[in-house]
Amino acid sequence: MRDIESEHIQSEKGSESKFDIPLSAPLIQGNEWRYVKECLDSGWVSSAGAYVTRFEQSIADYVGADAATATASGTAALHLSLLVVGVEPDDEVLIPTMTFVATANAVRYAGAWPVFMDVDPVYWQMDVEKTLAFLRKDCKWKNGALYNKATGRRVKAILPVHLLGHPADMDPLLEAAHEYGLAVIEDAAESLGAKYLRNRHLGRGEWVPVGALGDIACFSFNGNKVITTGGGGMIVTSNKTWAQKARYLSTQAKEDGDELVHGEVGYNYRLSNIAAAVGLAQVELLDRHIAAKHRIAKAYEEGLAEQPGIMLPAQADWAKSIFWLYTILVDVNLFGVDSRTLFRKLRMAGIESRPFWRPLHMLEPFKNCFAYRIETAASIYRDGLSLPSSVGMEASAQAKVIRTVVGSAVPG
Ligand SMILES: *Cc1c(COP(=O)(O)O)cnc(C)c1O
Repeated sequence: MRDIESEHIQSEKGSESKFDIPLSAPLIQGNEWRYVKECLDSGWVSSAGAYVTRFEQSIADYVGADAATATASGTAALHLSLLVVGVEPDDEVLIPTMTFVATANAVRYAGAWPVFMDVDPVYWQMDVEKTLAFLRKDCKWKNGALYNKATGRRVKAILPVHLLGHPADMDPLLEAAHEYGLAVIEDAAESLGAKYLRNRHLGRGEWVPVGALGDIACFSFNGNKVITTGGGGMIVTSNKTWAQKARYLSTQAKEDGDELVHGEVGYNYRLSNIAAAVGLAQVELLDRHIAAKHRIAKAYEEGLAEQPGIMLPAQADWAKSIFWLYTILVDVNLFGVDSRTLFRKLRMAGIESRPFWRPLHMLEPFKNCFAYRIETAASIYRDGLSLPSSVGMEASAQAKVIRTVVGSAVPG
């Protein structure tokens, strides 16, 4: 057993990335092998196994929510969350244009339409002022529901994304959602463990984990996220009806296990016991992973603060980021080369970095969707670059990244 283990760990280091220093590699260091072996030895490999419920409970406890349903991916979690809160075909859902494509794909799976919002220039999160302006000025009430004046479609939900480990500014969005009867779904795929200072404007601020702020929330355990199950996701909510509905839809809408009665079109979206076993072991390491992310962020801050033309990510005083991917903006005028040139220089040095996602309203499948006053996302997309942020990255490797970034500058 031990031989297989060490062999596996060695091959793991090189197998997931062709780079010497990968962007965000998984770290398998706890009880993963032991728990998975237990699954295999016992024959409980599918979604009916006990690790699924244990993993669900561990995430619900961590976030401070009543219930969690483990899914095969974060994308599946988003899809089911949209269905559970009542998003129907031809409805609209407000999402930031700066996010991973899965957020918008899930809206389309539900037959609904994303309405793309800009991001703010400081924290790069869904732009709250523009979102509120859209709701106030560009929508109208009709028969107790809100409609987008331009498209005539019903606006049903807001889906803010906690981008790159930093929370979105939720209070104003939650208030507006309350006022207009909209559901709030958090896409917390990148930000498990981040915290938000809720109700600060009322003089009674309290730190609340992301995932416990909106009506329902989604996490991802893809290989590059802060903890992983290989692939997987989680739906978290404190609404009992919705929690039941999420579980029901994730298991083919099964009503009677003996008679195989299914009440509606369901999905095969539940996580397997093997993946959940990995997940439970990873949850046990979550605080250590977050501490590593903080250590990495601090070292980047110290190493790059003096470098002209590099703008470091800001953390709001109402936010505790987990710095999932440490992301900088490159000002070509001050740095001498642009973000994509820096990207290539890092690649030549064996260092994996990643530009920001292309804003979704610019992508072919979403070109015809409604996009509202988008300005900032385009420049952030042009200048943004995520630097290696693997939990297991060694200090010497990070020092090389910093040296290479600094050495790539071409002062004018
Ligand atoms: C990773 C991610 C997802 C999707 O998660 P998968 O588990 O890969 O399906 C959704 N939204 C955001 C913002 C993500 O980063």
